Amino acid sequence: MISGSCLCGAVRFQIDGQYSPIGQCHCYKCRKVTGAAAEAALFTAATNLTWIEGQDQIVKYVMPDGHWKSDFCGTCGSPMPHLSADGELYWVPAGLLDDDPEVEVTVHIYVDGKASWETIGGDAPQFPGDLPATQRQAILTQLKQIAQ
Ligand SMILES: [Zn+2]
Ligand SMILES: [Zn+2]
Repeated sequence: MISGSCLCGAVRFQIDGQYSPIGQCHCYKCRKVTGAAAEAALFTAATNLTWIEGQDQIVKYVMPDGHWKSDFCGTCGSPMPHLSADGELYWVPAGLLDDDPEVEVTVHIYVDGKASWETIGGDAPQFPGDLPATQRQAILTQLKQIAQ
C-alpha cells in the first residue's frame, strides 16, 4: 500500500495492489497543470485507489473542447488523480505520493512538444507523441487484468 496527498493535506488517498512505472508527459497542457517541465504520473486500476478523505474538495476543470480535464484540490491546487475516459484506470500524479513507489521513470511522451529549456535526463525511451497504440494497449490490458 502506498499513500498520497495534496499540499494542504485536505485530500488523501491510498493505492493497494499493482500500479505502473512512471511516465512523464511533456505536452503543453501538462506543463500548465503542473507548472513544471512535465507531469510524472503512474496508472493504477480504478478499484485499487481508495479516497481516505477530501474527495469532495476536488474541483474539476474540463477544457472547452471536452477532450482534456484537470482535477485539483480546491484549497491548494495540487493536481489530483483522475479516472481514464473508460473509468477503469486512475492516472495518479507521482509527486503526490508520500511513500516511495519503488518504480522508475520508464517512458517520456509528447517529447516533440517539450519546452525549449528542458533537457530530458536518463535513458528511458522517448516518444514524439503519445505511446504507440500497441504499447499503450498492452500496458492497459495488463493493469486491468491485475485488478480483476
Ligand atoms: Zn490541498
Ligand atoms: Zn501531457
